[in-house]
Amino acid sequence: MLNSLTGLGLSDLNPGAWAGSALPASSDVIDVHNPASGALLGRVALADVAQYERVVAEACRVQAEWRMFPAPRRGEIVRQIGDALRAVKVELGELVSLEVGKIRAEGQGEVQESIDIADFSVGLSRQLYGLTMHSERPSHRMYEQWHPLGTIGVITAFNFPNAVWAWNAMLAAVCGDAVVWKPSLKAPLTAIATHVVAEQVLAKHGWSGLFGLVIGRDAGVGETMIRDPRLPLISATGSVRMGRHVGQVVAGRLARSLLELGGNNAIIVEPDADLALATRAIVFAAAGTAGQRCTTLRRIFVHRSISGALIPKLVAAYGQIKVGDPLAEGVLMGPLIDAGAVEAYEHAITTALAQGGELLAGGRRLHGNFVAPTLIRAVRDMAICREETFAPILYVVEYDDLADAIHMQNDVPQGLSSSIFTNSFRSAELFLSAKGSDCGIANVNIGTSGAEIGGAFGGEKETGGGRESGSDSWKAYMRRQTNTLNYGTDLPLAQGIRFDVG
Ligand code: NAD
Repeated sequence: MLNSLTGLGLSDLNPGAWAGSALPASSDVIDVHNPASGALLGRVALADVAQYERVVAEACRVQAEWRMFPAPRRGEIVRQIGDALRAVKVELGELVSLEVGKIRAEGQGEVQESIDIADFSVGLSRQLYGLTMHSERPSHRMYEQWHPLGTIGVITAFNFPNAVWAWNAMLAAVCGDAVVWKPSLKAPLTAIATHVVAEQVLAKHGWSGLFGLVIGRDAGVGETMIRDPRLPLISATGSVRMGRHVGQVVAGRLARSLLELGGNNAIIVEPDADLALATRAIVFAAAGTAGQRCTTLRRIFVHRSISGALIPKLVAAYGQIKVGDPLAEGVLMGPLIDAGAVEAYEHAITTALAQGGELLAGGRRLHGNFVAPTLIRAVRDMAICREETFAPILYVVEYDDLADAIHMQNDVPQGLSSSIFTNSFRSAELFLSAKGSDCGIANVNIGTSGAEIGGAFGGEKETGGGRESGSDSWKAYMRRQTNTLNYGTDLPLAQGIRFDVG
């Protein structure tokens, strides 16, 4: 931790100072522990509602100016934020590892994702295009333009403590919005470091306060944020339980929400699949990040004719996954985030076995928050397979018919990510067709996790329907205005309506 903070130039920050005058130390303090070692990493003074008020008021004040600052110039500032993240990628990535237990490569990869979305947003700042339309009326012109939405509330989950903020904040900034960020209380240190890196760039250009950070409790700060009429969009990432509540509250005030919630992702392995490729993809997608990604692979459907070949390969690969200190060389899987997550892991395994599952690999806590990656042969329609357990547990189900496998894959409440392994053009296209996967992400011959930022990211059904990151996701952060101009001397009405007076 100290190395990371020194590298980031944050070692002399005291807990109350990082968000400037907006967040003086309060008496409500939380301890942040390293999930791998249990060591105390730091103590964070939580903001109360009065402090939240100041941060939002400041963001709204700055946004009123920022929205008129030309978009390409906003992009230039985002470019510099991307460069500032580049300069501290190693240290910030290490902090992610220390705080949430990701292995070194994944901690760095997370910061790289933030850099990538900054780069993407820079280009986007010159491409916030609207359409023009031909008017049916003579001497009229119609077009649409995209205006900034305002100040955006961003709520993030613990498992992407840096990148999910960037997906939102970098796009929102080029779109002309301010952002107020409420991170998870399980990962506040990465949020502080990330915020300070961006704030230093903003302050240099006179835009201090455009990005606000409020680390507070859900019952106080969280509830105030989702009810705040100054925030026209709440972008929330986390569990379905949280999203269901946030979505309803935000809908109740007729504002917008962008929900990125839980997944229950699956891979179908067809008889003609490249099994070596499938094995590698399955193991990374299921055990990477200790099963704590929204896109983590939770179920595989294996054609009965090849299960005898694939399952032993998976069991052997599972036996080779080195679990341990996430910053140590060669380790592929770090710890779960906390004791509650370990409990959920153990509970899911007990339930799966009680429901008829057969343990093929793993199945037990190792020590502390470390657990063994687990493979369970499931029987059809096992109730536990419908739930997202945020841990490295993979259920294996055999099938005979591709249409039935697709049906089983889709027959869950969530709809985030999915893949098929096949060398058949027909099977691949069926899987990607309208009667194929019902998920927001559908892949062929790659795993369910590790999406690139260029595509729109998100899922259907209980995953919430939001789209973040690439493609045209930026439209969620802007409001569309349709303009009709009459440059003639008549006043023709649309649809041929006549309304003559005098
Ligand atoms: P969580 O739902 O416990 O918390 C997520 C965030 O919501 C936290 O910041 C939390 O403080 C906040 N929150 C909770 N109640 C709130 C309230 N009433 N008002 C305002 N904020 C509130 O989730 P978690 O354990 O941090 O993360 C794991 C979950 O997130 C998994 O379900 C995972 O699938 C999901 N996730 C989804 C995506 C995606 O893009 N679809 C990405 C990452 C994680």
